[in-house]
Amino acid sequence: MTALIEAHDVTRSFEVSAGMFRRKRKLHAVNGIDLTLEKGEVLGIVGESGCGKSTLARILLGLLPPTSGTIRFDGRDLRTLKRRDLARQVQPVFQDPYSSLNPRRTIASIVAFPLDVHGIGSSADRRREALKIMDLVGLPARFADRHPRELSGGQRQRVAIARALIMKPEIIVCDEPTSALDVSVQSQILNLLLELRNEFGLTYVFISHNLGVVEHIATRVAVMYLGRVVELAETSAMFANPRHPYTRALLSSILTPVPGLGIPETGLGLAFPDPLNPPSGCVFHPRCPSAFDACKCVEPQLAGNGQVRAACHLESFNTGPEGTSAYES
Ligand code: SF4
Ligand code: MG
Repeated sequence: MTALIEAHDVTRSFEVSAGMFRRKRKLHAVNGIDLTLEKGEVLGIVGESGCGKSTLARILLGLLPPTSGTIRFDGRDLRTLKRRDLARQVQPVFQDPYSSLNPRRTIASIVAFPLDVHGIGSSADRRREALKIMDLVGLPARFADRHPRELSGGQRQRVAIARALIMKPEIIVCDEPTSALDVSVQSQILNLLLELRNEFGLTYVFISHNLGVVEHIATRVAVMYLGRVVELAETSAMFANPRHPYTRALLSSILTPVPGLGIPETGLGLAFPDPLNPPSGCVFHPRCPSAFDACKCVEPQLAGNGQVRAACHLESFNTGPEGTSAYES
């Protein structure tokens, strides 16, 4: 069976000017990422800000071309998809429902906008379709001719979800979709996303710095650190038994959350490293409580069994690179 999303060795670098002499340097925001997603999965992507998760989201949405590597949707290379086909494949829901909705448009015209852009249907068809989708996400028809400023934050996020759904996409990439909302509204939006997934067989890539949210919604989790995936695991397995020392640090901080700050102090001592000058070997080694000599020079690859894989030398000692026991091979 072809996976719905196949990302292979996806890298994205940016040229930035840095330092006293404003020298041009390369920032590898996303660095050699491999991911596959089956239909109906919810892949949570977590990590501190600056780990590359939003860049990865924009690449998956076709908004930003990767520097190298390939992305396939249902076996088809993203680069060969026409804009309308891409829009039918993948749609975004972004963090801020305040800035992502055009304040001058009415709710119905915002929801219908993707149909408008791709020239689908007459304006009456588009409005009819918008009302149908609004109903589906719990927005009453009387909101159709209102403007975003007349709606609450949760209602605006429902508008953004309706706009994403109107093209009937296979995949929705949500980048921090609930971070700007009150906690009680957050859970309503998460539950709405889950209901829609069950009803339409949607697949989500769900980016968040809030581990509690990811545990609630994701079927699998990718933990990112400095542009790399350092752990990829089924959600329940990862929360029960995190393999990568970085994941363990993130999860231990979940016990003492700072309200409104998401991932708080991780107890990792050293600050986040300079992404322009990433550490050698395992990029996590300066902060890792389990680091040993080889970690400073050899970069670990994802290793483990099918359910849980971690890019850590300790994991490859346990299981061998292909998921076999190192002692058997
Ligand atoms: Fe820590 Fe070494 Fe594993 Fe990196 S490879 S996470 S430094 S133990
Ligand atoms: Mg971000």
